[in-house]
Amino acid sequence: MKSKFKPVFNFIFGPVLSRRLGVSLGVDLMPHKTCSLDCVYCECGKTTHLTIRRKEYTPLDQIRKELDLFLSSHPHLDSITFSGSGEPTLHLGIGEIIKYLKTDYPEYSLSVLTNGTLFHSSEVRDAVAQADRIIASFDAASDSVFRAINRPHPFLDLHEMVEGLAALKKECSNQLWMEIFIVPGHNDDDRELKRIQEVMDIIKPHQIHINSLDRPGTEAWVQPMTQEVFKRIQACMHNVRVVDDAKHATLTDGFTGDLKDIILSTLQRRPCTAADISKITGADVNNINQHLDILLKNGEVVKKKMPRGTFFSRV
Ligand code: SF4
Repeated sequence: MKSKFKPVFNFIFGPVLSRRLGVSLGVDLMPHKTCSLDCVYCECGKTTHLTIRRKEYTPLDQIRKELDLFLSSHPHLDSITFSGSGEPTLHLGIGEIIKYLKTDYPEYSLSVLTNGTLFHSSEVRDAVAQADRIIASFDAASDSVFRAINRPHPFLDLHEMVEGLAALKKECSNQLWMEIFIVPGHNDDDRELKRIQEVMDIIKPHQIHINSLDRPGTEAWVQPMTQEVFKRIQACMHNVRVVDDAKHATLTDGFTGDLKDIILSTLQRRPCTAADISKITGADVNNINQHLDILLKNGEVVKKKMPRGTFFSRV
């Protein structure tokens, strides 16, 4: 694959092609794995730093430098997306980075993938007010289910979360999409689904997405949602659609940079099959497999068989 330049990016990754967001450049503001939740299905692994404390976890000047380096050639992107190794709204500087991008690169649409736990704070709502799209997860309307699936920081309160999300929707002009991750046996019974729908009626998001296990999560017992469960969800809830971001299309330009670094950087954020990486990067799958074999031998990645194929994760 032709390499245009070889910078080592620490805080930005991709771009990847997502069904929901198009060509999306990731911005990872958080050190692995710092979050206010410790979800059983998390693709990034167990939360090692469970916190609700907001601070500058990663240096803003370096994040700006990396963004300038990547964006100075004004590449085609459909979204610059805050996501990655933890909860991005925990970063005290997320508002500043959003403002800087809106000022210096106004042509780009900004998305924030968040667990929605901190929006009861008006400061956090203000910080994301200029983003074009907030995609917030919400998996449980009952406290016991919330604690079983999301294993929250002990100071988090489900009712405050709902109030915060409803306030965000009222105050901000951006799109609010809610994402519900189905963990069979926990939040897929009719009672819980109806409660979740009641919460959606309060928040009134623009879209509701249903997600389920597609790649290895933190806990091995979490299973994917079946078609039968999805039919029940459709009966209990309205206007839901299934997330199918796993079905990436191919990026025509491909990645810029060293393929091994790109594979490692991608696997650091989420487990992928060789075919996923090939689709994301545009590189030949045999070439990807050769790199993965070496990385496996060196102990830098591990593999796990799943229904959709063999997934590789960074050690
Ligand atoms: S899925 Fe998101 S909210 Fe849940 S633990 Fe992982 S990073 Fe945090």
